[in-house]
Amino acid sequence: MISSVLPTYNRAPLSFVKGEGSWLVEADGRRFLDLGAGIAVNTLGHANPDLAAVLKAQADTLWHVSNLYTIPAQQALADKLVEETFADTCFFTNSGTEAAELAIKMARKYWFDKGQPERIEIITFDGCFHGRSSAAIAASGSEKMVKGFGPVLEGFVHLPFDDLDAVRAAVGDATAAIMIEPIQGEGGIRPLPDATLKGLREICDETGTLLILDEVQCGVARSGKLFAHEYAGITPDIMMVAKGIGGGFPLGAVLATEEAASGMVAGTHGSTYGGNPLGCAIGLKVMEITSDTAFLAEVNRKASLFSQGLEGLVAVYPDLFETVRGTGLMLGIKCKVAPAEIVAAGYDAGILTVPAADNVVRLLPALNIPDEDIAEALKRLDAAAQAVSQAKE
Ligand code: PLP
Repeated sequence: MISSVLPTYNRAPLSFVKGEGSWLVEADGRRFLDLGAGIAVNTLGHANPDLAAVLKAQADTLWHVSNLYTIPAQQALADKLVEETFADTCFFTNSGTEAAELAIKMARKYWFDKGQPERIEIITFDGCFHGRSSAAIAASGSEKMVKGFGPVLEGFVHLPFDDLDAVRAAVGDATAAIMIEPIQGEGGIRPLPDATLKGLREICDETGTLLILDEVQCGVARSGKLFAHEYAGITPDIMMVAKGIGGGFPLGAVLATEEAASGMVAGTHGSTYGGNPLGCAIGLKVMEITSDTAFLAEVNRKASLFSQGLEGLVAVYPDLFETVRGTGLMLGIKCKVAPAEIVAAGYDAGILTVPAADNVVRLLPALNIPDEDIAEALKRLDAAAQAVSQAKE
């Protein structure tokens, strides 16, 4: 008999009833050090008191109003995002997938309004992940995601990761946009070299093609910069944000330049919940905290502490691990064994990690993880590795 919850997930035999900072607690009191943070969502840890205070205050004042009216909390968050980034304008969503939907619509509408309706193609890359809607699975193009869900939305061109020559060859009269994650998350913590991102920007500038960056997983200080593209010294035309910006509350956004957003006039897009007062009040607090230079410096300090420890772990277990990769606190260990084995051994050792493609175990802790929790994480990862190693002997 089918379970009352649609069985689309392979769930671990764990169930948490409470979160405190970097820790999750089961009903029997067992504590797990959380290096998944809801897959890069709980930016400031579980039940962060500053965010909880904002949520409670907003809940006592106003939960939801329709986008038929101006929403002050939404306006304040949009102003903050515009102040901190390349963007001139923002649309709020409840998830990354919805942000992908709008980014794709915006790029196509841009060319339609420019009198070039044939420019509909969006170039995407091997290993990318942009969500699970019909457009987002078509963007990924991976057989695993599209199989059985046809007809697949047309107009996506899939290219190898990090291959500028392939992009140059593919951009043509029908190209609307290039859509890419500066650091692939689901694809296995694969940072795009800065030179490649710069090269993509150049190609876009030469051809008018719009550059859409998907910073759903790598954005909002996770990379050690507020947004990961800052490392390459370029700006996109359109950017998708979600996950971390809500700190655990469902919130996403599409940020865009005035030019790229020019087709999105009244009536072209909408969302009942997108930009609701609760989500936006929290998003503003998250942005205020994470955009602070002292906070970003701390993320980078913690990131080097953690990645140095992980390098040590890789050196101790050469049969299990290959390398550490990633930027800031978006880290991955490339494994020689199935990542699921390390993740499962982690459960026994009281630590939560997340598998990704390309044989990688992802480590995406809260950005304010205390140093002593980093030390504890390294101990527990060592215990997990030792268990996997011994089981192989
Ligand atoms: N884009 C990227 C880079 C992601 O990592 C994800 C989710 O993992 C998405 C889009 C989809 O976001 P959501 O699951 O919030 O719809």
